[in-house]
Amino acid sequence: MDPKATRSVSKREFLNALSCATMAFLDRHTASPPVDPGLEWRFLEGNLIGQLARETLGPGRQLALLGETAITQSAEALASQEPLYEVTMEAGGLIARADALLPVRNEWELVEVKSSKLAEDGTVKAEHIDDAAFTLMVAQMAGVPVARVSLMLLSPLFRKAGDLSLFSRVDVTELVRARANEFGGIVSTVAESLRGVNQPTPSLQLACKACDHFSSRCIGTGIDDSILRLPRLNDKTLRQLQPHARISTLPDAVMLTAAQQRVVQLVKSRGVERDRTPLCQDSCRTTAVRAAVV
Ligand code: SF4
Repeated sequence: MDPKATRSVSKREFLNALSCATMAFLDRHTASPPVDPGLEWRFLEGNLIGQLARETLGPGRQLALLGETAITQSAEALASQEPLYEVTMEAGGLIARADALLPVRNEWELVEVKSSKLAEDGTVKAEHIDDAAFTLMVAQMAGVPVARVSLMLLSPLFRKAGDLSLFSRVDVTELVRARANEFGGIVSTVAESLRGVNQPTPSLQLACKACDHFSSRCIGTGIDDSILRLPRLNDKTLRQLQPHARISTLPDAVMLTAAQQRVVQLVKSRGVERDRTPLCQDSCRTTAVRAAVV
């Protein structure tokens, strides 16, 4: 069996599976693409922010980042009562790395560092709550007692040369605990699906538009006139159009906007473009021009 199939499920895989189980499965079973400059820059930026956050949080033990060493070193360090950075925990077929665990009496404060700015009104993004919730869930499964969960985000008040801290630390314990409980209800199903050998059945959704697998390994393969190419498609319309996959086979009775109808008429009368660029993104006029050159 492919060793990748049995390795523990990472945070990225689990959270991606919440959007599309097929995408997470294909990502897991496909060789990673080469690192592009944009991704490399985000790594560098993340490392720099992590370093600055550790300086703000104070001295602590920096643990190994990768492999078995990271897991065993972290397990041993968790027996101590010193601040720990980059703590890798593995349990129940899942693996997570906490940016920091700080001792709170006989428990820990879990701190996740983000390189984005805290909103002026103090609200935090759902994706950050999900991110911390996965780490909390794995910590709980590994028997690590967590008393508090915090997010460290860039402060909206920070000004260069000012005396305010670069970071804002927000207590998100309640939100993260609630989300971790929700994850607990689905985690075994998600992990089983990702670690299995059968690709989950895909279903057409708006996320397919931006998915790298759509036309190479998933439901868009060989379909030049996917209904996803209709302009300004929303969830409601997409549900109404299914199970039709192609614009060219849509029945006349479907309810569409004028712009969408025009694209359907053009595709049915002239065929689809050969270069697979979107038929229409913003205006029907663009569509008319593009379709007319077919
Ligand atoms: S194309 Fe759609 S269904 Fe297929 S993996 Fe991507 S998001 Fe999931």
